[in-house]
Amino acid sequence: MSYVNDVLELVKTKYPEQPEFQQAVKEVFATFEPAIAAKAEIYRKNAILERLIEPDRQIQFRISWLDDNGNIQVNRGYRVQFNNSIGPYKGGLRLHPSVNLSIIKFLGFEQVLKNSLTGLPMGGAKGGSDFDPKGKSDREIMVFCQSFMTELYKYIGADLDVPAGDIGVGAREIGYLFGQYKRIQGNYEGVLTGKGLSYGGSLARKEATGYGLLYIVEEMLKANGLELKGKTIAVSGAGNVAIYAIEKAQELGAKVVTASDSGGFIYDPDGIDLALLKEIKEVRRARISEYILTRPNAIYTAGQRVWQTPCDIALPCATQNELDLEDARALIANGCLAVAEGANMPTTLEATRYLQENHILFLPGKAANAGGVATSGLEMCQNSQRLAWSFEEVDAKLKNIMIEIFKNVDSAAKRYQAEKNYVLGANIAGFEKVAEAMLAQGAV
Ligand code: NDP
Repeated sequence: MSYVNDVLELVKTKYPEQPEFQQAVKEVFATFEPAIAAKAEIYRKNAILERLIEPDRQIQFRISWLDDNGNIQVNRGYRVQFNNSIGPYKGGLRLHPSVNLSIIKFLGFEQVLKNSLTGLPMGGAKGGSDFDPKGKSDREIMVFCQSFMTELYKYIGADLDVPAGDIGVGAREIGYLFGQYKRIQGNYEGVLTGKGLSYGGSLARKEATGYGLLYIVEEMLKANGLELKGKTIAVSGAGNVAIYAIEKAQELGAKVVTASDSGGFIYDPDGIDLALLKEIKEVRRARISEYILTRPNAIYTAGQRVWQTPCDIALPCATQNELDLEDARALIANGCLAVAEGANMPTTLEATRYLQENHILFLPGKAANAGGVATSGLEMCQNSQRLAWSFEEVDAKLKNIMIEIFKNVDSAAKRYQAEKNYVLGANIAGFEKVAEAMLAQGAV
């Protein structure tokens, strides 16, 4: 058996109870053969793949907190520090009832390769909790975040591990987490990214993942003789990534006709009214179904996904495995040209394969949504320098990084005779830098 298959088997036998983690490794390893074959002996001798799939450490802890009725609630917290070969650990914190070790490990594994792709010196990690922020009061959110940080602070630091937001963790939660870290440690350091502008945050960080997604999609279309202007786009989600993807898409002249939350989706044939969507989601924190109360032409469909909607470009921006084979079939039947992942692993393996076999331009999350962590990297630079750059400066750097990511992904695909296979290109381009650093640093 090939080295790649040997290690894939190892993952299956070692972690049978971690389906998301297995899926992520399988998806990445499925594209690794050509790059590994070129150096199989040296990689095997140095156990590069065995080390790549085994986190440096995984921390799991209890989070006890007092709810508004005075009852003690208990949740489970995680931080998986996956690989710090090319820089301090970096990756978001997710608060969602579905969070478990398998999900955090899949996200951490992906983060290693994604961070490498940005060209910035950042290792990979991920963390979070099975805490459900929905329906919690502001006080409960604060108390939970404080309790979470009271354990997490032991393992993080500006040069050690720098967490950020993810699903369920936005500016409010980062503020509470940062406040508690500072209170315990007694020093002021850039230990988290996604901070508020008044205490060390970066302009354009909030917008970065969504904007970056559109910058790289534009570059991919250009490389394939297409343009974004005038295209119809289906977006899923209505969170941080989705909202700013919609904003940039509209700015670049495309028409976005859908958005969703876990309750259902809206279709607006006139194009999404972004101010209204922001008011519902960012200000009132309400359900997306309220959108149609103000927009009579729009339709709300409960319990369904957006992918039956005819579009030129599909941007899944909600969560993992939200676009399956049936969805992929619908997209193709409706003439879709391109799919780019704003979320992490939103497309199932079967759907990805089907899209690629049918020559749909497919850009995986680790390239397409890398703008968020890249701008977090820029926030770290500003904190280290004790400076704050302008919005335009950060945005220009972000755009540049996204263009470079596409070029690297495209050229890695071409180098291994797999032109337009951006999944292969992204996996290999991300891997090669990490592997080189691991080889240089010896058996650690
Ligand atoms: P948010 O919490 O801001 O928004 C998530 C959105 O997805 C919400 O609309 C939410 O609806 C919906 N959603 C979440 N879980 C489910 C589910 N199980 N089924 C259906 N809908 C769901 O998160 P972000 O926008 O920050 O993140 C979205 C995705 O992008 C995630 O995969 C994340 O890992 C990835 N990502 C985020 C980055 C960032 O900078 N924020 C960077 C890179 C990747 P509801 O409110 O009803 O739950």
